[in-house]
Amino acid sequence: MMNKSRRDVLKTLALGSSALFFSPNVLLAATRRKKDKLGIALVGLGYYSTDLLAPALQQTKNCYLAGIVTGTPAKAEAWKAKYNIPDKNIYNYQTFDTIANNPDIDVVYVVLPPSMHKEYVVRAANAGKHVWCEKPMAMTVDECQAMIDACNKNKQSLAIGYRLHHEPHTQEYRRIVNNKLLGKVTGVNCAAGYRDNRTNHWKQTRELGGGVLYDMGVYAIQGARLGMGMEPVAIVSATTSTTRPEIYKNGLDETTVAQLEFPGGVLADIKTSFGENVNFLNITCEKGEIKVEPYSAYNGLKASSPLGEIYHPYDIPWQQAKQMDDNATSIMQGKPMLVPGEEGLRDIRVVQAIYKSAASKQRVTI
Ligand code: NAD
Repeated sequence: MMNKSRRDVLKTLALGSSALFFSPNVLLAATRRKKDKLGIALVGLGYYSTDLLAPALQQTKNCYLAGIVTGTPAKAEAWKAKYNIPDKNIYNYQTFDTIANNPDIDVVYVVLPPSMHKEYVVRAANAGKHVWCEKPMAMTVDECQAMIDACNKNKQSLAIGYRLHHEPHTQEYRRIVNNKLLGKVTGVNCAAGYRDNRTNHWKQTRELGGGVLYDMGVYAIQGARLGMGMEPVAIVSATTSTTRPEIYKNGLDETTVAQLEFPGGVLADIKTSFGENVNFLNITCEKGEIKVEPYSAYNGLKASSPLGEIYHPYDIPWQQAKQMDDNATSIMQGKPMLVPGEEGLRDIRVVQAIYKSAASKQRVTI
């Protein structure tokens, strides 16, 4: 058996060698890996953070609500009391970058209007934090690429908040499509919309990321891309419109329809709207149709195909808890994110091509 003084010498040497050979970041990373739950900081305490993500973080097993970033002191007080968040984990937009020095925070989850996503994702990555970012990823492909680059440069993972990728009905229709269990896909029809009665929200403000195509439209684009199991090669045609020009000003889209062409000339029709409640995905295959309706709701999804019903009931906010637990597990195990930044970028590329087609009334190659 080793005597005490020898054990102490070895301990001292081990600590000494850590101090000599490991930078603070490596030590921090080692500390992080040892955690059994990751600490999440939500940035932007609006509807989605308040009603879905914070409640979901009370259900997650691999991560928890460790901190908040808000510009509204009253919200900071209310959240601090409700979720027992220590003062040292509460930031505003000016102090945000000092989150770099906070070992409680492993992941920064950006839940701001889309025009702000790029700035806060890059700042979070530069602060040495993993980043989760809500959809739509950003306003342009260039912004998306800058976000991916910043996370890569800082060796931090980046996940986009496409909760449906983590969801069983979605995973099941994708399995049918990708394994050609009903033969090849011959067409897709997808619609995602709801009646938005707000008049002056960021969704109705172009500079903040408004326009329905960025918001609900990415769900319709996802339905087309995932339903096809392929990437679109062109926008055949697209139209943007509004019946409320006093709210959707200067050509901002309240409703957008588009036809996407996929390899082999297969077509997908998509519709997205802030003017009507509509939500379905139909995937026509050689041997029958897969129908999902509602398709992108928080729960109550119903799906069927000639192979049978797809039935996985759950309550709100199970989807959000599953998404965050999946992502936390991937980080802790050093695995790639299920929905990396590249997936968010693909949709923004399509968004930009649809707007270009609508403006030019021309086919646009992607
Ligand atoms: P929201 O308007 O309710 O909240 C936005 C938050 O950003 C507010 O707390 C607001 O104070 C803050 N903010 C900071 N600077 C702002 C500025 N200059 N202008 C406006 N707000 C500012 O929006 P939300 O519905 O919570 O959406 C936030 C993000 O989450 C968006 O990217 C949205 O697409 C996404 N979202 C995703 C889902 C989903 O199912 N994945 C659902 C809803 C929203």
